[in-house]
Parts: sequence; C-alpha cells; structure tokens
Amino acid sequence: MENDKTLRNWLTEMNLDHPLVIAGPCSAETEEQVLHIAHQLKDSDATVMRAGIWKPRTRPGNFEGVGAIGLEWLKKAKKETGLMIATEVANKTHVDLALKADVDVLWIGARSTVSPFIVQEIADALQGTDKIVLVKNPVNPDLALWLGGVERLYAANIKNLGVIHRGFSTYEKIKYRNNPEWQIAIDLQNRFPDLPILVDPSHIAGARNLIFDICQTALDLNYDGMIVETHHTPDKAWSDAAQQITPEFLKQMTIDLRIRKKHGAGEFNEKLNVLRSKIDVIDNQIIDFLGKRMGVADEIGELKKENNVAILQPERWNNVLNKLTLKGEKNQLSKDFVERLTKAIHEESIAHQHKIISQY
Ligand code: PEP
Ligand code: MN
Repeated sequence: MENDKTLRNWLTEMNLDHPLVIAGPCSAETEEQVLHIAHQLKDSDATVMRAGIWKPRTRPGNFEGVGAIGLEWLKKAKKETGLMIATEVANKTHVDLALKADVDVLWIGARSTVSPFIVQEIADALQGTDKIVLVKNPVNPDLALWLGGVERLYAANIKNLGVIHRGFSTYEKIKYRNNPEWQIAIDLQNRFPDLPILVDPSHIAGARNLIFDICQTALDLNYDGMIVETHHTPDKAWSDAAQQITPEFLKQMTIDLRIRKKHGAGEFNEKLNVLRSKIDVIDNQIIDFLGKRMGVADEIGELKKENNVAILQPERWNNVLNKLTLKGEKNQLSKDFVERLTKAIHEESIAHQHKIISQY
C-alpha cells in the first residue's frame, strides 16, 4: 500500500461485494486457538483477523493478554490463511513490536482514546506509517475526544485512517454493555465524511443475541464494515465470553444482513434509506427523552400530592413555553409548531400527574 492512499481508496480497490469484516477473538489465548479460529475464518467474509494481545482490563486480576508472543501466532495465522492481521496498541512499545511483526491493522482502544497523552505517544510512534490505523471511540460519550484522536493521527501523517464505533459507557443499567449513541457516530461522519467507519457490535452489545441487530443498524447508516469478536468456543473464551460469536454464526450473519448496494440504479433509494435511518435514530431518542421527562413529571406529581398542591402552575407553564419557543426559533422551528408540541407534552404530563394525585 502506498502512503498517498487513504483507507477509503484501499476499500474501493479491494472491490469487496460486502462490507469489510474484521473478525477474531477478543484475546489471543494460545497458538492453537489463534490458528484454529484463523482457519475457520478463512472461508468467511473476513478480510482481517483480530486478536488482542495486550488487554486493557477495567479491574486488575483478570487475564491481561499473552503479550508479544501473540504476534508470532498472528504472523503464523497470516502466513497459513492469507488473512490480514489486527491488534490493539496502547503505547509506543506495542506500536514498535506490532510494526516489526508487520501487523496490517493497528487499533487504538476505547480506554486509550480518552487520553490525549497516550494517543499522542501512539501517533508519534506511528508517524508516517502506511499501515491501517483505526481509532475506537472513547469510553465516555465525548465527540471532541474522538475527533481529537483522529486529528492527532492525521497530524502524524497517517493516511490509512478509520474509526471504530464501540459504544459508550453509562452508569445507568441499559440493555447494551455500551450505549451506542448513534448520533455521536453520525456527527463524526459528518465532520469526516471520507473517514471509513466500522461498527464493533460486540463491545456495544456485551451479549451475542444483540449483535445482528446492531450490525444491521450500522449498515443501514452506511457504515463501511464491522469488527466482530469471534471464537470457536465462545463460552470458554478467556475474556468477553458472553459477546463472542462462532465463525459459523458470523458466516450466517453476513448472509442474512441486508446490505445496501453503494452504487447503481437505486441511488435515490439508497440516499433516502440512509437519511431515514438517521431520522429513525433521532425519533427513538425523542421518545426515550419524552419517557424520561414523564418520569420526572411523575415525581413532581408525587411531591404535589404529598403537599396537597395544585397540578397546574400557570406561571411555571408560561415560563416553560416562552423559553422553548425562543429556543425553537434559534433551531428554525416555527413558534406555532413549538407551542403545539409543548402543549401536547404538557397535557401528557398533566394526565400523568392527575393519575398520581387521584390515587388514594
Ligand atoms: C477489544 O476490542 O478487545 C477491546 C478491548 O475493546 P474496547 O477498547 O472497545 O473496550
Ligand atoms: Mn473484547
């Protein structure tokens, strides 16, 4: 690969008839395990095999990776199967060893993207490389940190750059291990439209039954591919067991996924689908937010009930309405629309509170 090529150009030249697939275990465990999985992936859609060898674990005392010996196993897997190889790097020593081992794809993990010091150290060590470098989103939902990571790598003259969306940590208990917050990835795509984006459904999901749907949403949002944790005996994996899928499952999944064609006659429909998917994501957020708002309204209802206070407080209501119509104007929303919307929300809140207050 020449240094003036971007990852986008490389993807075009690869001319795959499906999204880019990177697959392989969360962690390299033994030489046999790496080779076994590599051979199972050989006749799948996977172009690249992943395996973590330096594992960032949130708490100490867990398996922390096999270290540099794993590079030898990956090299062997590449030689035997022709798959490209990928691993996570988290400091200069990792980068130097991975480059020496001719690792094709190096990714920066979510716990590293949060630290500009670490990203800068990695960028300096990678300076000018023609290897593919992928930046995962930071653990916390902070677009600026993610953009900053990308900018530091661009500044180090790394052209074969892409990003991985692996979701964001929340304190709240949700069905995902990491909240996808699709809007953040959409915002990143808007800022860097030429930067390929892959989904990491495994770390978003935390459970294998959610992986298919996450991949489908990502493809509907025009993602370029996926990095999926894949293990021959997932339940026995030394790390992230619950979210790994078998190579067989991966093969079936890539057959079942609805893949939008990027070129050809239906360009209008394709553009429309992308835009509709974006609308769907936002609509879902609106409903979630309204649900949360009603939750707070219920709490207020309880409070009013305990203190025997009337539901409707006209002064407060006028205040809310004025503030929102002003904000609406700034967002190109007509006064009439914001008023109707706010009234509808308010009515629903009143109905909620009424129900609470009338319970004895
Ligand atoms: C991984 O890909 O194995 C990993 C540790 O992911 P993340 O940085 O997204 O937590
Ligand atoms: Mn993992």
